[in-house]
Amino acid sequence: MDDITVRPRRAAALLGCRKFYFRMETEGIVVVESFGKQTVIRYEDISALLFLNMSKNQAVILLGRKNERLLNFSSADMINADKAIDILRMKRIPSINLSERLERWQDIDEYMPALSWSERFVCRPQVIAMKSARRIEEANEGKKIEKWKRLACVVGWAMFVLDIFILLFLRGGIRTACFMFVLLFAWAMYVWMYPLLFLEVSGFVKNKKYIIEMPVFGILAAFFFCLTGFENFACDFGDYLVFVGIITVLLLIPLFLKSYFGKEKPDKMRVLASSFLALLLAYAVVFPVNYMVTFQADRHEPVMVKSKEIYVNKFASYYVYADWKEADHKFTVSEKTYYEIQKGDRMQVCLRHSIFGFHYWILHNEGHCKWGEL
Ligand SMILES: [Zn+2]
Repeated sequence: MDDITVRPRRAAALLGCRKFYFRMETEGIVVVESFGKQTVIRYEDISALLFLNMSKNQAVILLGRKNERLLNFSSADMINADKAIDILRMKRIPSINLSERLERWQDIDEYMPALSWSERFVCRPQVIAMKSARRIEEANEGKKIEKWKRLACVVGWAMFVLDIFILLFLRGGIRTACFMFVLLFAWAMYVWMYPLLFLEVSGFVKNKKYIIEMPVFGILAAFFFCLTGFENFACDFGDYLVFVGIITVLLLIPLFLKSYFGKEKPDKMRVLASSFLALLLAYAVVFPVNYMVTFQADRHEPVMVKSKEIYVNKFASYYVYADWKEADHKFTVSEKTYYEIQKGDRMQVCLRHSIFGFHYWILHNEGHCKWGEL
């Protein structure tokens, strides 16, 4: 047999791939590390050849007799990788394609210890999905999940239609209430079907027989309204974060109870993703929630407009500067207000606080308290 050298392609080497190469010799594989250190892996010590599809590449892992990791490389980054794989196959070393096994719901538990953290990161969501799928089939709950899938799909699209209705026909407090309802209802469904329902990306799981995915357009539209509808509202940033924290915790309590007492256990990554989702939701609803439970304006403080400014990015933002609390305090105002007022005009800072004790303010024209308007 002619020796074959397998070395990184130039591009891969430049990207900081491990600087090593190996030679396929008659007796075994000679691995040469960056400082010239050589190790030999005898062919009879290799028990299996693992393949795993990573995001853009295929990882190849040589496994020892005790299922330990002997050598790994990514097939696309190495010159002669194909030839090396052919030689190993000719030596009757069995190939195991982990990605295919996972898609067919076959176990890969015995190989998990040999995987690196990034390889496990790719496999774990599928392993968890597979185990929960088996439980579902054992408990004969497949039909129930099929129903949930249809329900989630119908609800997802119904939310989208509801959003359009809200945008066209509703104004002020009732509009806010409806968008909040959409978001909280979506969260309630998420908790109810947790961890089978995904609102976040479930792209790692290829076999989606028992994965419920809800169309997210309706939820996203409500989410963006809650953010943009209140862009003229201002508050102390610290207060805002406190409320984000409180609402996140309130959203997560039912989720944790569900995963603690429920049959299906989510993995750590999933818990992290769900917590992040709760955080995003909380971030969007701080103003809407407090606006809903504010029943009167606290007081008004007059200010004099010193200057105006439009900031155009993708969308235009309108600012007014006035001396309030500090010199040149920057207020965000609506487009309409922006064009109605002139430099030197008197305006009112409308201070409010909700029954939860959240203090916030907006700027409006003198004598015109835009209370209840958005
Ligand atoms: Zn007011």
